[in-house]
Amino acid sequence: MTSVADNLAVIRQRIREAALRAGRDPASVHLLAVSKTVPMERILDACRAGVNVFGENKVQEAVGKLESPGAADCRWHFIGHLQKNKVKYVVGRFDLIHSVDSIELAEKLNAESEKQGMVTNALIQVNVSGEASKYGVDPDHLGDLLRRSGALSGIAVKGLMTIPPYTPDAEEARKHFVSLRTLRDRMCEKAIPGVTLTELSMGMSHDFEIAIEEGATWVRVGTALFGERAG
Ligand SMILES: *Cc1c(COP(=O)(O)O)cnc(C)c1O
Repeated sequence: MTSVADNLAVIRQRIREAALRAGRDPASVHLLAVSKTVPMERILDACRAGVNVFGENKVQEAVGKLESPGAADCRWHFIGHLQKNKVKYVVGRFDLIHSVDSIELAEKLNAESEKQGMVTNALIQVNVSGEASKYGVDPDHLGDLLRRSGALSGIAVKGLMTIPPYTPDAEEARKHFVSLRTLRDRMCEKAIPGVTLTELSMGMSHDFEIAIEEGATWVRVGTALFGERAG
């Protein structure tokens, strides 16, 4: 296995070059290290190598990691499908939830956040491709979800997230990244109260450079950083 530090240096360079190619400030692109299935020991290696934000997609696995020694030195985002009955485990633990895709989930997060006296940062997951991906709000219903979420004081909507269907040719994903950015721009024009849409979470190991060219502010990178996942 190559070291996380070596992989990190390569990824950072690729992020930088993609940003510059697109005429963007490389500092406007953040790396989220997707650490699902990665053991805590290797996460802490990454932490020492300078990665500071990790993304987990399963509540139970994530909570176990967050409670282990050293976890408090890392920052954590939640990127997986979130069931409403698991909301109580994520509020207060994750800096950003990338996967809010219904008003029912937004309301649950809001209620739990209010109970804990805090505000939870969230992205709305959008199903821009219309097929393949099971989760994410339909683009036609995004405006309504943003308006209703914006009215909830326990959550702060910061932007949009998408997971395009996997295709071997990463260029195929570009149109979906363009769709997400275009939707964001359209929603910004509406100036929806309580909503800011500065963040675009899009791009994974095989297509993050294309996502950056199309405006990503968070790229979610797992295998390129940690190596192939077991199982
Ligand atoms: C697993 C996962 C990633 C990272 O995928 P890689 O191809 O390993 O980079 C990104 N986003 C989400 C939502 C994931 O579940």
